[in-house]
Amino acid sequence: MSEESLEAIDDSIDFIYSFLNELTIFKKDFELFCASEDLDHLKSAYNSLTKLMINFPILKSLIKTCKKKLKKVDKNQINKPNLISSSHFMPTSNDLLLSKIKTSINSDFFGPSQDKISTRISSLELFDFLENFRLYFQEVEIYVYNVETSNEISVRFQFGEVIALTVTFGSFNEDGMAFSNLSLPGGIAFEIGGFHVSSTSPNVFSNLISTNGKNSPAKESKILTIIQSQVDYKWNHCVLSSSSEIMKLAKMLLWFQTYFSLYRSPCMNCKKILKYEPTVAQWVPPVLRIQSSESSSEYSSVVGPTIFNPFHLSCI
Ligand SMILES: [Zn+2]
Repeated sequence: MSEESLEAIDDSIDFIYSFLNELTIFKKDFELFCASEDLDHLKSAYNSLTKLMINFPILKSLIKTCKKKLKKVDKNQINKPNLISSSHFMPTSNDLLLSKIKTSINSDFFGPSQDKISTRISSLELFDFLENFRLYFQEVEIYVYNVETSNEISVRFQFGEVIALTVTFGSFNEDGMAFSNLSLPGGIAFEIGGFHVSSTSPNVFSNLISTNGKNSPAKESKILTIIQSQVDYKWNHCVLSSSSEIMKLAKMLLWFQTYFSLYRSPCMNCKKILKYEPTVAQWVPPVLRIQSSESSSEYSSVVGPTIFNPFHLSCI
């Protein structure tokens, strides 16, 4: 069996685990609803059930592919230790490599030099970028998903227990045609499709801000909606800039990774973490990330020392 099919099976295993996770969440929420008749739990259960339903056809196709591939598998190879799955970028303890990347962060860390502005990202560039990002921000988990029947791949950046950003990419072959068979690594280029903010675990926001112990998906989604609007605004800005596609991706992620400390970094104005925001009628952390005036220009070629400060909606 080739490395590619082993990787495909690794991807499928990852997917099945996330499917099981969704199922567990649904079960928990539904049980909570049955015990308390709390409508919030019913809503949350309904949401996870909807998600499961959407993912079910993917699961079916995965099972089909696995069956086909298993027929060709040599039993001896199954017992071979798994190759590191391309779907999950592991942190490395190679300090030398890390320090090398840290010193080069100001130059070509995030892709090719600016003189060649590319509107697409080659597969090599993308995977180099993911690897470097993972090395530099070791607490960030990166998962790559691709659905065999689609020409899209998604990369999910998971920032601890707090927040995740999923980036979707359209893929194209050398002739610029939409490309659907991603198992062939050569000659594929990617184009950023969009950014989607979600919580890392479904109840993390409500657990953190709740005072009465009740989960409230509605409250969670309000904070996520605000952050999503920040992301959309930032992305519109990036699209208008003359940077290459890989630089745009790097700018978005360098900015977004500051949300890692959403519930830890106090607002630069009021020095508090939670503030009651009348416009959304709830307690909200500093959801804005604004570039400090002392840091380098946002669209200069220097990526390094840009500083983004946290602010509340009503603190700017
Ligand atoms: Zn504030």
